[in-house]
Amino acid sequence: MRIGFAGLGALGVPMAERLATTHDLAVWNRTSSRAQAFVERFPNVRLASAARDLADGADAIVTCLPTSAEVEALLDGPEGVLAHLRAGALVVDCTSGDPDSSRRIAARLAASGVGFVDAPVSGGPPMAAAGQLTVMCGGTEEDVARAREVVAPFAAKVVHLGPVGAGHAMKAVNNALLAVNILALAEGLTMLTKAGIAPREAVDVLNASSGRSFVSEALVPERVLTGTWPRMFRLALLEKDIGIAHDLAAELRIADPVLAHARELYRMHRASLGESADYLDPIRAAEAAAGVEVRG
Ligand code: NDP
Repeated sequence: MRIGFAGLGALGVPMAERLATTHDLAVWNRTSSRAQAFVERFPNVRLASAARDLADGADAIVTCLPTSAEVEALLDGPEGVLAHLRAGALVVDCTSGDPDSSRRIAARLAASGVGFVDAPVSGGPPMAAAGQLTVMCGGTEEDVARAREVVAPFAAKVVHLGPVGAGHAMKAVNNALLAVNILALAEGLTMLTKAGIAPREAVDVLNASSGRSFVSEALVPERVLTGTWPRMFRLALLEKDIGIAHDLAAELRIADPVLAHARELYRMHRASLGESADYLDPIRAAEAAAGVEVRG
């Protein structure tokens, strides 16, 4: 397949690396030096100097951008990708976007005979590099079947959840629950550490008990107890995801006091820690506030 890929960020790079080995690939990135560095590593990959060049003969476009707003901007206008895409092509949006925007984008693409699948992923950069991502799809049966071929190099699991928007709804709620968990563990672990319990033992007991979660089982041992704090996923993007889940709750008239409060807390962290902070930095902030370090 001939594929155009937009968005060589923390997640986009390992995804594009996987695509480079199996598909005929062209890449574009807003900061062009990053796309240039990518094609230097993969001489078989074409460099698109403008976003619209991704459309050149493409069967599919894959986007991995911060929000749906950047995806719309990429597709729109006379210089946008859509104006240059052939009828029958497919846009696979791996951005963690929002369902409403996706439905709007899909309708606009459909008018030009172009398909759309919202296909946000979970797993993060290491899983992308290993081809182990889970892809949450929204779209028609036919479009999702085609999207499976596109994402196969970086996906271990591809789930069709419903019409356009279903994938983005699933991803937003997943990440909102992740955020709640991080905030809860930040409080629980600093509390236990300050109470004099060795952090390693506290985490071991938690992980053998009912309070455990992905955060306590994977992220805390790898990144908090070791104090390594790798930058994998920007806090600003997680705050955006909780916002999408909160908006979905409002649209469906579901009361979401827990998510709403978590969103407020992540908003405050985003404002104080900045746009490049990592999503686990609220744990460091809780440590600083409590005057302890959760290490072991
Ligand atoms: P990054 O912030 O690392 O990268 C964002 C990418 O989008 C960069 O290529 C950036 O280009 C580009 N970009 C930013 N603004 C614009 C714009 N206005 N126009 C065009 N391109 C733009 O994000 P990630 O790669 O981490 O995340 C991408 C998406 O994947 C997000 O929706 C995120 O929520 C989701 N995601 C991320 C995961 C992770 O672990 N990182 C896990 C699962 C989902 P430039 O190089 O110029 O800055």
